[in-house]
Amino acid sequence: MKIAMIGTGYVGLVSGVCFSDFGHDVVCVDKDPAKIDRLNAGEIPIFEPGLQDLMAKNVAAGRLTFSLDLASAVDGADAVFIAVGTPTRRGDGHADLRYVMAAAEEIGRAMTGHTVVVTKSPAPVGTNRKVADAVRAANPKADFDIASNPEFLREGAAIDDFMRPDRGVVGVENDRAKKVLSDIYRPLFLRDFPIVFTGLESAEMIKYAANAFLATKITFINEIAALCERVGADIKSVAKGIGLDGRIGNKFLHAGPGYGGSCFPKDTKALARIGQEHAVPMQIVETVIKVNDQVKARMLDKIVDLLDGTVNGKTVGILGVTFKPNTDDMRDAPSLTIVPALVGQGAKVRVMDPEGRREGEALLPHVRWVENAYHAAQGADVLVILTEWNEFRALDLNKLARKMATPRLADLRNIYNREDALAAGFEVYVGVGR
Ligand code: NAD
Repeated sequence: MKIAMIGTGYVGLVSGVCFSDFGHDVVCVDKDPAKIDRLNAGEIPIFEPGLQDLMAKNVAAGRLTFSLDLASAVDGADAVFIAVGTPTRRGDGHADLRYVMAAAEEIGRAMTGHTVVVTKSPAPVGTNRKVADAVRAANPKADFDIASNPEFLREGAAIDDFMRPDRGVVGVENDRAKKVLSDIYRPLFLRDFPIVFTGLESAEMIKYAANAFLATKITFINEIAALCERVGADIKSVAKGIGLDGRIGNKFLHAGPGYGGSCFPKDTKALARIGQEHAVPMQIVETVIKVNDQVKARMLDKIVDLLDGTVNGKTVGILGVTFKPNTDDMRDAPSLTIVPALVGQGAKVRVMDPEGRREGEALLPHVRWVENAYHAAQGADVLVILTEWNEFRALDLNKLARKMATPRLADLRNIYNREDALAAGFEVYVGVGR
């Protein structure tokens, strides 16, 4: 199959590279010349484990190219995937569809022969029909079908998720589009990964419902964690005890500083807006959004308490600023709320993140970036673990405590035990829900 992938962000680049690895001919298009230059030089503009090697392999095999020229990539393609951003629109919480619609128009103008236009970006119910209208308006004679193929990959495990998904979801209107998508995903069919074919609206809804459910699960355990702290229960035991129930499952039950990232915050907000528009308020999701903000505020309170209530002039070491480990993505990370609040109250903040600095420098001004966890602890009044990168899981706690002015640990990912921290010389250990 000949595929054009529009947008080379986390979703588009991973999808394009993996489709080429399936054996298809893929052109990845972006309008950002700097990204295309880097890709053509063999570099990836994001941090995603394994992606660079897989990309190099498929470029060398002649199946994968990168281009600024959308029209040539779309000309003669069997399928064109739209994988551009759908961020929250300023002011009203809706998904901002301007990038999707602009891409649809351009695709319409460039299309030759039968083409399936596939939306991969999450977009509110009804978007695919708007995409079809835009394509048709740009090219009334276009011979095309539309499909919705939401992506469920997780940053940090994106290739594995794409190649071995729990399921794929494809929304189509007819057999012609179904056949093209089936051919594209043939390697997954052959390995018996389930692909759910539905109508367009159901596929669009599945993506939002899935993300809202996961955000709800995280928020639920965060709220239970807050209660655990008051009643003397330990959230780790509670999560284990409920997670072993097959109906509940043990994933997404880690208490922490609240969800962030490029998907959950904006997709929950967009779903809430869709509900309001259709007079079916998504009351659970609306509450989840509110509670998640409270969780972040509660984490800040924990840190301030460890500073005896006075932040001004104190030194805070921060371990991890990306919204989760194994990615450089900073979008809506809890650090973006917590760190500026500390800086604003007069703290001197020392930050270490294995991959977050490139993105984070512009987003977190007035902090000092340091090379490793021990430098972050140097002279600090409190050390905060915000992201559970593997390299923070086996730190020499004795050494950390010795470097600090007052050895106090806010372990907001619950990766250490109080007993171990105290035995290593910390005077106070605070986790979440313990
Ligand atoms: P991103 O913002 O990193 O990348 C989008 C890219 O599209 C940018 O490089 C931009 O320059 C390019 N672009 C925009 N308009 C274009 C046009 N007309 N022509 C060519 N290129 C264009 O976004 P992302 O992280 O890849 O996410 C895309 C969407 O998928 C988002 O809505 C996101 O929520 C969703 N999603 C993300 C993940 C994830 O893990 N990041 C997982 C599933 C779904």
